[in-house]
Amino acid sequence: MPDFDDDYGFETLAIRAGQVRTNEGEQSEPIFPTSSYIFSSAAEAAAVFAGEQEGNIYSRFTNPTVRTFEQRLARLEGAESCVATASGMSAILATCMGILKSGDHIVSSRSIFGSTTGLFNNYLAKFGIATSFVDLVDMNSWKEAIRPQTRLLFMETPSNPLTEIADIALLADLAHQNGCLLAVDNCFCTPALQQPVLLGADIVIHSATKYLDGQGRCVGGAVVGSNEIVGKQVFDVLRTAGPSMSPFNAWVFLKGLETLSLRMRAHSDNALALARWLEQQSAVKRVYYPGLESHAQHSLAKSQQSGFGGLLSFELDGGQDAGWKLIDATRMISITANLGDTKSTITHPATTTHGRLSEDQRAQANITDDLVRVAVGLEDIEDLKADLARGMS
Ligand SMILES: *Cc1c(COP(=O)(O)O)cnc(C)c1O
Repeated sequence: MPDFDDDYGFETLAIRAGQVRTNEGEQSEPIFPTSSYIFSSAAEAAAVFAGEQEGNIYSRFTNPTVRTFEQRLARLEGAESCVATASGMSAILATCMGILKSGDHIVSSRSIFGSTTGLFNNYLAKFGIATSFVDLVDMNSWKEAIRPQTRLLFMETPSNPLTEIADIALLADLAHQNGCLLAVDNCFCTPALQQPVLLGADIVIHSATKYLDGQGRCVGGAVVGSNEIVGKQVFDVLRTAGPSMSPFNAWVFLKGLETLSLRMRAHSDNALALARWLEQQSAVKRVYYPGLESHAQHSLAKSQQSGFGGLLSFELDGGQDAGWKLIDATRMISITANLGDTKSTITHPATTTHGRLSEDQRAQANITDDLVRVAVGLEDIEDLKADLARGMS
């Protein structure tokens, strides 16, 4: 079913797109644990190797289970092409290696995943690719940072942990006016809540480890975009350098996609209920959640996203002591920096995810000592409230 009917809705595509049944008539997608593939003749081998005939050669390049995941995710993002990778970080690395060269320049939001900052500053810089970091929600800072050498604009929206929202369509226009590509790390919304390609973005990055799996089982990633950029340039890096997704993991992610829409709606419902409750607690100074009317970009979030996601953060009275006390008083919520799981997680950004930043950098990023982040899972909302209330007295 490679040209699966265009008229199907999101939930149908999430369950059925990309599946090619074998002669066994299996209902669930099969896993193909094979490193290589055989040919019926020397001539066929030559034709496939020469690219004159379609076919599998080796699972570093293509694998049927991985391809099903790639085609399904491409359809969900409304894009032509998808390349699955071994992790979210290798998706970002493969993208940069595919589209950039020495002397090129990146303008990136400052509020991105810590390892992505490290990749840009410590590794791409070694190979002559410089990065300027800007304020995600300040259009002028994006404009001012663009140079003649700039080739890529990079961001996450919503940001983590403060849930700031950038206008994807505006940034896509800015990128294209300046001969750049816009890449959006769509980890927090997933295509169930936000489809950056349909808003003009050129490349969508995923850490499948998070909500695409949704149950904390596997590490994986993906790059989504056009046939030319993703299907050719990024795929060539994958094929050559080899950060490929395993067929076992692709199968787990396929099962995750089947319930993606349902889960993202449930995460969003739980997070909104928890955010509203937190706003009413006297120990809580401020809540960051795009679904709250008090959020600075609430209306942009409403127009750009079809839900507000599972991530929220809040500031307490009493500095780091209050944050740690609240975290240590929980009995059910998992103390971990991971997110995108059915299980809720809680973390203190200033001493974990943002602990390596200097005090000045943390202040610039608005990561205060009393900030706590919760990635809201799918447990009973009353149990979540009770677990957080325990440490607030
Ligand atoms: C986790 C994460 C990544 C990295 O993904 P891995 O699968 O851990 O390599 C990239 N971006 C964001 C926003 C993430 O949360």
